[in-house]
Amino acid sequence: MQEKLIILKKLQDIDQGLNDVRRQLSVLESEAEELTAERGRVEGMATTLGEELAGLETQLSELDCSLSIEQDNVGKAEGRLPAIKTQKEYVAVLKEIDTAKKVNKEIQDKIKNKNEEIAAIAAEKAEKDAELAEVSARTAERAALIQAQIDEIKANTSARETERKELFAQIPPQLGKRYQVLIERRNGVAVVIAHKGACTGCNMLLPPQLFNNLYTTREILSCPLCSRLLYVGEG
Ligand SMILES: [Zn+2]
Repeated sequence: MQEKLIILKKLQDIDQGLNDVRRQLSVLESEAEELTAERGRVEGMATTLGEELAGLETQLSELDCSLSIEQDNVGKAEGRLPAIKTQKEYVAVLKEIDTAKKVNKEIQDKIKNKNEEIAAIAAEKAEKDAELAEVSARTAERAALIQAQIDEIKANTSARETERKELFAQIPPQLGKRYQVLIERRNGVAVVIAHKGACTGCNMLLPPQLFNNLYTTREILSCPLCSRLLYVGEG
């Protein structure tokens, strides 16, 4: 087997290994992204509930404020009663007090409902916060493991990448390009053995002359169908 083909074969072994590594990395990276998204979803729900709760509490404090104004009005009207001279005026003030008390009652009912609503949302938020804590802990633990695996894989591949560069530098640039194009277009297999007169890349039976030439030529020959670079077994 020619020296250049031996180099290309080694290069191909490294490239196939690196491709496997890239696949592993992409699986790990997408799992890491899913974990981040999962945590983000729960966090988003907890935040929405928190905002809803804050809105309800603002409404409650507005109701409390209205109630104290109305109660004040009742107190003032009742305070005016002893000084009233006429029956007509007395009846008018009593009516005013009565109306204000009705308004108070309505506000108190609203406050009661608002408090119930707040309690329900607060319970829901507490549940979501607990879920967030659980998801955060779980995803952080898994993400750390994934990151450790990614780091380890990257550390292991850097030596192979260096070796690849060194091998690639040893072949003529034109041949390097041919190899690179084939690796990309032929599913990571650019160099194949010709066996029993056929290309083992695409299984096409090679023209006999081409097959014979493989044993004698110093040129690098390609399969006429799949263009893969061919070599023959020794002996
Ligand atoms: Zn072929």
